[in-house]
Formats: sequence, C-alpha cells, structure tokens
Amino acid sequence: MIVALKDNLVYGTPFLPAPRAVAIGPAYQCNFRCLFCIEHSSLEFQPGYHYQKEKRGYLQSLLGLSLFKKTIDDLFDIGVRFIMLCDGGEPFLHPDIFTMIEYVKSKGMKCWIASNGSVLDEGKIRRLVEIKLDLLHISLNAASPSVHARVHGTGNQNYFDAIVANVESLHRYKELLGAKTPVLYINNVITKSNYLEVKEMIRLGARLHATTVAFETFFYCKGRESLLKDIILSAEDRHALQQLLLEASLEAHKLRLCNNINQILLRLRTQAQLTFQIQNPLIYRCDMQANGDVYPYFFPTRMGNVTQHSSFCEIWYSVPFIRFRRRLQRMARHKQTYEGYPYCLRCKAGELDRKLCYLHY
Ligand code: SF4
Repeated sequence: MIVALKDNLVYGTPFLPAPRAVAIGPAYQCNFRCLFCIEHSSLEFQPGYHYQKEKRGYLQSLLGLSLFKKTIDDLFDIGVRFIMLCDGGEPFLHPDIFTMIEYVKSKGMKCWIASNGSVLDEGKIRRLVEIKLDLLHISLNAASPSVHARVHGTGNQNYFDAIVANVESLHRYKELLGAKTPVLYINNVITKSNYLEVKEMIRLGARLHATTVAFETFFYCKGRESLLKDIILSAEDRHALQQLLLEASLEAHKLRLCNNINQILLRLRTQAQLTFQIQNPLIYRCDMQANGDVYPYFFPTRMGNVTQHSSFCEIWYSVPFIRFRRRLQRMARHKQTYEGYPYCLRCKAGELDRKLCYLHY
C-alpha cells in the first residue's frame, strides 16, 4: 500500500485501489479441444508452457469453494465489483458453479461467465436466469454443425444443434420470467477453418437474440505445423475475409447487432497481429486460475498464489505487482508497444468500442 502511494506521489502514476474486474477460472478442465486453445491443445504461448502448467498443479484442477468464497470476500472488500468466471477451461464442469455465481450475486457484484455451452441444458439455463447472472458469453466459433465439430476438436456434429437449442431457450426463459439478464454475448475466434461463415455467425447471433457477436483473430502460436494449417489464414484468405466481414457488417447493421467488425478489419488491414500498443494501462483485469495462481490479464507473469498468501489483496499490493503496473503505465503514456509479448494487453476495454464492452453493457 505504501509503495502504491509512493508511486502516485513520486512517479505520478495513478494509484489503483483495485482491479476493475477479476477473472477467476473455476476449472482447469475442458471437454473440448479447440484448434486454437492454448490450454487444451498442443499449441503453446511459449516453449514449455504446458510443462510449466503441469508442474504448477494446473492440470484437471478445480478451485475449492471455500477458497473461492474467501477470495470473493477479499475482492469485495477492496472494491472489486465485477467477477468473470472463465479462464483455463469450461466453468460449468465445476460441480459448485451455481453456488459460486449465487455467492458473487449475493454480494451485489456483477457476474459474467464464459462457456462453450456444451454442458448446459434447459434446466441450467433457467437457473441462470433465476439467479440473475449478468452476462453469458458463449464461445460458438461456428455457424454450422460440421465447422463446429472441426473447430472444437470434437468430431461430433450433434454438439452444435444442442448448444443452439439451449441458447435459444435463454431468450424464452427471460421472457417467461420477465428478466433482462443474462445478456447474451457470442464470441467467434476466426481461423482458416471457420472464416467463410462470418456472415452466418452474425445471422445466427441475431436469431439467438445475442446483444453482441464479437470476433477475435488468432495471433499467438507455437506448435506443430500440422496443427497450424487449420488455423492460420493465408494472404488470400485474409483478403477474402475482409470482403466477407464487410458484408457481415452490413448484415449486423440491418439486424441492429453490436459487433466489433470494424476493429477486426482494421487489424487485418494494418497486419497489426504481432505487436499491440499498450492501450489500457489500468490492468483493469486481473486473473486467478483454478490452482490459485494470480496473473495480470494476458501476461504470463505469475504474481503469486492465493493459497500461499494470506489474501488476494496481498498479491495485488505486493511490490512486484505494483512495479509491473507502473511499468505498463509508463509505456502507455509514451505510446510504446510491448514487443516482448506479441499477445500483449489486447484487452477488449481498449479495443472495442466502449459501449460494446462487456464491462459497460
Ligand atoms: S472450450 Fe475454451 S477451454 Fe475448452 S478447449 Fe475450447 S477454448 Fe479451450
């Protein structure tokens, strides 16, 4: 705390009492093997990534309910009001996931959850409406059963229709119960395997009553060439994708659907895939994984573990974490890029129009 105040007075960097949002990974497990997933495929952020995860006890880990509640209490006390349940796997595989959501909501905090949608059913969807989850993020990445099976590495075309049927029931239950939430946010990571469907993804999003259909480009990769061939877009693919995105943008406009197509087009045109300017230095989000490790959003720099420290706050206010934030703040002020990390701080709050951002819906 003293170091933070000194930072403010001496270096003029703003004192950050708390991260704006904290993402907590309830389960480091997944039933899918998405082509682009760095956690559950053979791709790696950097050499040795999976080995390190295994060594640190991530594999198959589930966050204990009592540790989760204690962390939520800590976060509430320092002023965090937004909890995202995502990271590392499929959160609905955690047996206590509904209790976790209810606990967050009982504190008056906003709660957002990201899922591949495959372990939901109508009963669970209804419960999400009843417990007033704020936002349901579905990673769909396809607009047809065959592409879904390929992109998600399942080889099972039945998943797509089942997920779509479940998501359709969300709107029905919201109407039935007179609820405005959960807001539906659909995300699609664009790869060579699915880019031809971007227009259909927009139409599907509108049919499912999504508030936003967002796209991501795949940009980090280490791994066997054989894995990348279904992911990386060639120059011709990128050219074709630009045209398809323009058409998708017109479609989205007609359907009054929020999207981030302009940002994706800009990224494709400028080839801005490998370096990112530090746009949002606030470290507005901080991540805690299922084994208790705490990271700044999008940086593989482990800052501590909640099972080894007395609280999350102790890690947030630790000298290394404050120095890390200070460094990014300086870089942002000088509009520097963080070339050491190609996936650097590509945060949605900085990149998307703010009104599309899930923190401001
Ligand atoms: S659903 Fe998510 S966690 Fe699971 S394999 Fe796909 S990207 Fe990874």
